[in-house]
Amino acid sequence: RTVYVNGEYLPEHEAKVSIFDRAFLMADGVYEVTSVLDGKLIDFAGHAARLERSLKELDMRAPCDTDTLLEVHRELVRLNGIEEGLVYLQVTRGAPGDRDFVFPDPETTEPTLVLFTQNKPGLADSPAAKTGMRIISIEDQRWGRRDIKTVQLLYPSMGKMMAKKAGADDAWMVEDGFVTEGTSNNAYIVKGNKIITRALSNDILHGITRAAVLRFAREAQMEVEERNFSIEEAQAADEAFVTSASAFVMPVVEIDGVAVGAGTPGHRAVRLREIYLDESRKAAV
Ligand code: PLP
Repeated sequence: RTVYVNGEYLPEHEAKVSIFDRAFLMADGVYEVTSVLDGKLIDFAGHAARLERSLKELDMRAPCDTDTLLEVHRELVRLNGIEEGLVYLQVTRGAPGDRDFVFPDPETTEPTLVLFTQNKPGLADSPAAKTGMRIISIEDQRWGRRDIKTVQLLYPSMGKMMAKKAGADDAWMVEDGFVTEGTSNNAYIVKGNKIITRALSNDILHGITRAAVLRFAREAQMEVEERNFSIEEAQAADEAFVTSASAFVMPVVEIDGVAVGAGTPGHRAVRLREIYLDESRKAAV
């Protein structure tokens, strides 16, 4: 596999980052994951815009402009022959000469830019989309700036492990009695014609897929309600689903052992997945 590090395309075993890199020492880095369908990037502009926002919120320098990032994404997809899969991008505050809590001077410390691809044939035609996911609920113990897409992923990773140990596929996190989001996706319930999802704030990541799916839902004459919901309300809903760049729209069929609706993927979730895949393929770059 060919990867990209700070301006160079290299075989993965030749790619190197300093042990003093602040992402390695302090999780001082941000990332984006963009999916690839038919060899093209899905919603690249959305991911580039969110990256810019994450960098700004952390007072971090951009490694290059958006056009260059697009070029690097495309070149890696080409070099690795990706038809379906993902492009992972990470920007860190760089590697000053020593470990220090104080941010290094951006004039002298270059940000680190790393990209690699993941080949995932069958990503769009996933069997999980047909069976739906079983999820558990866990307490949300993450920090308070979940709107910034940092590489600080230990708690979500622990959450996935809790789900796995419980025999489930994923976890929804709950704070003050309400669902925030999934470990790596945004969470939704459906009641009648209404798609309900938590409103944007610092409590959740502003999903790029979320923005697109809510737009498609409105265009398909579904109602959208951005508000909090509890696990109890979700268990009693007609349908549930999650969205993310790598899972698109994924039905949820069970929450803490309770079947949602008929315990099979709901028709609105399935429809939104179809629309999302169709429209995203058309707009891919
Ligand atoms: N919420 C969290 C915590 C995530 O990690 C992700 C994606 O990885 C999402 C939501 C979904 O965001 P997007 O649709 O931009 O992939």
